[in-house]
Amino acid sequence: MYRADRMSRRRLLQQLLVGVPLAGVMARTVHAGDPLVAADSPEAKALGYVEDAKASREATGGNHCGDCALFQGASGAAQGPCQIFPGKQVKAAGWCRSWAPQM
Ligand code: SF4
Repeated sequence: MYRADRMSRRRLLQQLLVGVPLAGVMARTVHAGDPLVAADSPEAKALGYVEDAKASREATGGNHCGDCALFQGASGAAQGPCQIFPGKQVKAAGWCRSWAPQM
C-alpha cells in the first residue's frame, strides 16, 4: 500500500471518529457567548484546527473559518460558533480540514 493511501485512510478515519459523535449533538442551540475551541484540544487537533489559517500548510486558496459554510458567526465577526464544534466558537481567521465552501 502506498504511503499516500495510508495517509488518506488515516485522515478519513480521524474525521469520522470526530465527526460521527459530533453529528449527534449538532442540533444543539449555539450561543454567542460560548468559549473558543482550544486549538490544542483533541477534537481540534483531530481536524487540524488552527486559529490562523496562514499557519496551516493544508489551508489553501485563502480559505478560513469566516468563509466556511459551517461558520455561524456574523459577517465580519472575529469569531463565531461552528457546527463542527458544538458549544464552542472558532476564530474567523482559523481553519480546519472540515472547511466547506458556502453555496
Ligand atoms: Fe472553521 Fe469551517 Fe472548520 Fe468550523 S468547519 S473550524 S468554520 S473551517
